[in-house]
Amino acid sequence: MSLLIVGSIALDTVKTPVEEHTDQLGGSASYAAVGASFFSPVKLVGVVGDDFPETEFDFWKGRNIDASGVQRVKGKTFRWSGEYAWDLNTRETRSVALNVFENFQPALPENFRETEFVLLANIAPALQTHVLNQMHRPRFVAADTMDLWIETTRKDLDALLSRVDLLILNDSEVRQMTGETSLIRAGRAIRRMGPNYVAVKKGEHGALLFGPDEFFSCGAYPLEDIHDPTGAGDTFAGGVAGYLAGKCGGAVDFQSLRKALIYGSVLASFNVEAFSLERMRSLTNEQIEDRYQMFKLMSEFEVLP
Ligand code: AMP
Repeated sequence: MSLLIVGSIALDTVKTPVEEHTDQLGGSASYAAVGASFFSPVKLVGVVGDDFPETEFDFWKGRNIDASGVQRVKGKTFRWSGEYAWDLNTRETRSVALNVFENFQPALPENFRETEFVLLANIAPALQTHVLNQMHRPRFVAADTMDLWIETTRKDLDALLSRVDLLILNDSEVRQMTGETSLIRAGRAIRRMGPNYVAVKKGEHGALLFGPDEFFSCGAYPLEDIHDPTGAGDTFAGGVAGYLAGKCGGAVDFQSLRKALIYGSVLASFNVEAFSLERMRSLTNEQIEDRYQMFKLMSEFEVLP
């Protein structure tokens, strides 16, 4: 089954203590779409300006990402710039230029509306809702958000939550949303706001998953060399939603979500090995599977006979 993804498509400028790269492919939907494409066909919805490289459309095509829902309009593509501290964990946003995003109204092509799985990648909640309103009863809706929307458009976000099956947030965002310091209390509190499942990303410390009666916790894949953490969360979300859409025969339960979380973590671990989406351009399903098996071995705690 295919997966519809809406979110930002950006040209990012990212600085780490050792490198700086300018105007490279970024945006929540770009990362999520490429992550998901390893498991399911993707229908991408977004907007770019007339400065956006045509070669990225070729890249998407080659990855079975249908970009006919990406509007190319007059003006500049959304730009974001961030700088990482030496720990590659703390990040400061240096600048944001909405550009063509300012007047973006997603319009779904007719053949996108029946898609059964949806990932509302990070974008203003009103736009996420606008996309959902154009769909015919999707079977499963996953959504991501960020601190900015929790702070500035909380009402829109709250209204969306009852229509979301899986909400994916990072640890600081669940605390911000609930006012709870305990991640366990916070995850449970967010479930009471609407989503049946809540996934909490903890960066290099892994992820948590909350369901109606179940709980799951996993680590992150340990990496020696991290070059650019940008988009790790979006790639994770894309991997999770892509796995659910493409590899679970349409049936989502806690067991399939546990596996999806590991695949999401594996994809995110590849993504941070290089700047922008560079590592994803050469990644193979075989490499993903090898790392998944390694993850499994490393998480085993009962000694095998
Ligand atoms: P992450 O590292 O998961 O926080 O995601 C980084 C990506 O989010 C970058 O590629 C940015 O282009 C994108 N981004 C930054 N700010 C926003 C925003 N306000 N709305 C949508 N996407 C954004």
